[in-house]
Amino acid sequence: MLSKKIEETAKIYALQNAVQFNGKANEKAVIGKVIAALGKNGFKPKEIIPAVKSVVEQINHLSLKEQISELEKIAPDLLHREKKERVFKLPPLPYAEDGKVVTRFPPEPNGYLHIGHAKAAVIDHEYARMYNGKFILRFDDTNPENAAIEFYDAQREDLQWLGIEWDEEYNTSDHLKIHYQLAEQLIRQGDAYVCRCPPEEIRKKRFQRKECRCRNLSSGENIDMWNDMLSSGFSKGVILRLKGDLHSSNTAMHDPTLFRIIEKPHPIHGDRYHVWPTYDFAGAVEDSISGVTHPFRTKEYELRDECYFYILERLHLRKPHLMEFSRLSIKGMPVSKRRIKPLIEKGIVSGYDDIRLPTLRGLKRRGILPETIKQFVISQGISKVESTAPFSLVEAINRKILDPKTRRYFFVPNPVKIVVKNAPKKRIELKLHPTKDLGKRVVETGSTFYIPKDDVQRMKTGETFRLKELYNIRIEKISDDIITTQYVGEELLPDTAKIQWTTDDHICMSVFVSKPLFKNEKYDPDSLQRIDGYAEKAVADIYEGEIIQFERFGFVRIEKQNSKIVGFFAHK
Ligand code: ATP
Ligand code: MG
Repeated sequence: MLSKKIEETAKIYALQNAVQFNGKANEKAVIGKVIAALGKNGFKPKEIIPAVKSVVEQINHLSLKEQISELEKIAPDLLHREKKERVFKLPPLPYAEDGKVVTRFPPEPNGYLHIGHAKAAVIDHEYARMYNGKFILRFDDTNPENAAIEFYDAQREDLQWLGIEWDEEYNTSDHLKIHYQLAEQLIRQGDAYVCRCPPEEIRKKRFQRKECRCRNLSSGENIDMWNDMLSSGFSKGVILRLKGDLHSSNTAMHDPTLFRIIEKPHPIHGDRYHVWPTYDFAGAVEDSISGVTHPFRTKEYELRDECYFYILERLHLRKPHLMEFSRLSIKGMPVSKRRIKPLIEKGIVSGYDDIRLPTLRGLKRRGILPETIKQFVISQGISKVESTAPFSLVEAINRKILDPKTRRYFFVPNPVKIVVKNAPKKRIELKLHPTKDLGKRVVETGSTFYIPKDDVQRMKTGETFRLKELYNIRIEKISDDIITTQYVGEELLPDTAKIQWTTDDHICMSVFVSKPLFKNEKYDPDSLQRIDGYAEKAVADIYEGEIIQFERFGFVRIEKQNSKIVGFFAHK
């Protein structure tokens, strides 16, 4: 009776595990599950383990099809849970009406986009599509110090790569005339004033919550000074400030800057303007006048929300439903343009597409798919809770997408030569994927092979191992640079290591492997490694940019650099 219960439980978990892993249940995994399920009812591992072992063996003799139909019979719920892909979806948007939602992604064209931007762009884009609304790409280019044409183009390209399509595109800088009119309106209403105090003075007065002498001039005088500002009558340092509330507990309301003078020519407008709006002003005004209904911002702006709404209120402009989510951060990676830029300028990384960076270009280069990034950022959701995700979450999604469609080859890192005595000459066809029809390659073998040094270091004389997909060999002698072995037959032996190999007909290649750029917040100089090795000859025909899997090594994206083939390691 009791053993029947164990058997039934074991059967369910063995079937579930087998279906999940291509027809082969793992004994240990099933034992673990059965003990967890029955242990608390007083069953002892001593009774459970042998019973589970025998059930697993029986189940592993069934074909995958038979396993599926068995599981369907005894635990259909488990089968369907297995089959159902985890689909990540965004929660409904508050106050959203079908056909009327307008969102925008507002990058500053001052660098390359990273995975944090992807979070913002994907969420904005997804919501517009979810509600059949409109999605706007807006370049927030009102700081000519930082903006450059290179970045507008790169950001556009990177968004396209991510699969984001925008219904409208414009530059905030194209609306400067409107911004000036609105500023004038604020000044006339007495809601803004030109301040000529030096920055230290402004800081001090803000801290003391005291008004400066500029605050109480008449709006007529302010209009004159504003016009002077616009026509370059004033030198740098003069600003237009919002008349906020110096006594507010929110420091963002202490008369923030709305416009400042920047002399550097703008990449699009040249030296036509030198008075530029701040983010507080331009962000609020643009969201409102471009019809955005649900602007998303990262949580660090939360304090500035009051200022956002206050500016719109004083201008009698429509107030959108401001939404906030946490900034995305990833362990050991700089997810911020401000942190990435100096790494490039100081030559610590090779450029915006260095594979250690979380830039979209860096991720693309190491074989992370746009679909992965999309799924990952949606899985992070729109909560405001700050958290640091490990990069392994990105890798897991990527692996799942790549695994069924990626061709597999042999690559031998740090190769060691082996000679096989009595080796039969072979001409074999090897499948490029064990279960999917992704084609084949033909390999001819003689008596010389190369295998990875790591494997060699674990070997002893007299041991037998299998050259993967080929035959078994026994080690006769291990010396520093060559291993002598003996051909010992072809049948699959249990518990025999299967090792990938190449023949003399190989190509030499290097694979670059990245580790987190920062270890305990400090730059790790060993974060980029190069592994040299031999790849089988068929790798020479792989097209530039293809992602393949090197068996027992990992997923690698292939590039051709001056006729040499180079790989970038994505993940295991
Ligand atoms: P950075 O520090 O990388 O320069 P930023 O916010 O100044 O960040 P912007 O180009 O101004 O960069 O950002 C465009 C949009 O992307 C903004 O809506 C911003 O909130 C969002 N964004 C930027 N970084 C992240 C991140 N790490 N996580 C989520 N959203 C982000
Ligand atoms: Mg910014």
